Amino acid sequence: MFSATLSEMCGVFRHFLLEACPDNGRASRTIVKVLITGGAGFIGSHLADRCLQEGWPVSVIDDLSTGSFANIAHLKHHSGFSYVIDSVFNDSLVAELVDSCDVVFHLAAAVGVRLIIDSPVRTIETNVHGTEVVLRAASKKRKRIVIASTSEVYGKNSKVPFGEDDDLVLGPTSKGRWSYACSKALDEFLGLAYHREKQVPVTIIRLFNTVGPRQTARYGMVLPNFVRQALLNEPITVFGDGRQTRCFGYVADAVECMVRIATSTGAAGEVVNIGNDEEISMNNLAELVKQRLHSKSEIVHLPYDRAYGPGFEDMQRRVPSLAKLESLVSYRPTTPLTEILDAVALNLRQQLSGNAPTDIPVAFAAFQ
Ligand code: UDP
Repeated sequence: MFSATLSEMCGVFRHFLLEACPDNGRASRTIVKVLITGGAGFIGSHLADRCLQEGWPVSVIDDLSTGSFANIAHLKHHSGFSYVIDSVFNDSLVAELVDSCDVVFHLAAAVGVRLIIDSPVRTIETNVHGTEVVLRAASKKRKRIVIASTSEVYGKNSKVPFGEDDDLVLGPTSKGRWSYACSKALDEFLGLAYHREKQVPVTIIRLFNTVGPRQTARYGMVLPNFVRQALLNEPITVFGDGRQTRCFGYVADAVECMVRIATSTGAAGEVVNIGNDEEISMNNLAELVKQRLHSKSEIVHLPYDRAYGPGFEDMQRRVPSLAKLESLVSYRPTTPLTEILDAVALNLRQQLSGNAPTDIPVAFAAFQ
């Protein structure tokens, strides 16, 4: 019911022609039309906004499994925007969409630790088969393709910051969490193989804890979860001893990097970290959220077993090296965490008061 026709998607906006954004004297590519798989997701929808701002027509394919129509509702009547609600497993449709664009951002994937633990079959199949379909389509006419991977692939490596050529240290196959890292690592191998064997201009981006407005707390991501709990004065749930750290990158910064990577001729065949390298422990994050939002929430600690089930393994630290990103695109995400928190809280407050498109879990809807 939400889908636009394919003829609307193809051809009509081809008069748009813009030079790519500057990348400090490096050669840049021209983009005419963009396809975003998973474009109704949190990051995909911000990327769609950003590409449309550049004047690039955008097509989106999303099956709304983890994405939400609310994320793209504001673009529905934009003349440069079209969308299909369908799966990337639909290979004839994907082939048609890829043919009609110049750059593909492949973001369709199963994400979030909660989803991975609960639905490992879906995670593996979506991530591996979906990428196969999209890469096969891109290879026919050697379309530029940027494939979203994750910092999760570094696994339990304790040598921070993580550089793109560092070892991936994953746990045993009996622990479901690692299926996500493995499935994305396989996507990376496949993408790089297409680059080497078939000369497809593929870039792999490893996204580190990307956060911002529209991110749902549904799949267990810590920052939207803490903000939601703080706004509702519910207990803020820190898992484990809370000394584990993460670095949170703002979605607008991540999207800026993605656009620059897609338009840079030097990034094909590369793996690139994208994120912020300011580190914070979950204990300190909980305190910061509580203070910043003037919340009455108490901070509680929950053993991993209770949060995710027996035998869960977490990463203690996860910090990106951003040297390669900076050298490729002359940009480095720097939005401070306090600014990010304000933006996330504003968005969630608007959702709670009914003034923003909502994608909140059923249990949470009771508070509207
Ligand atoms: N976490 C937490 N409370 C929550 C959700 C997550 O303390 O309500 C912890 C989680 O155990 C991990 C960190 O926050 O150590 C980041 O979790 P998230 O799922 O956001 O991302 P990832 O583990 O993939 O970095």
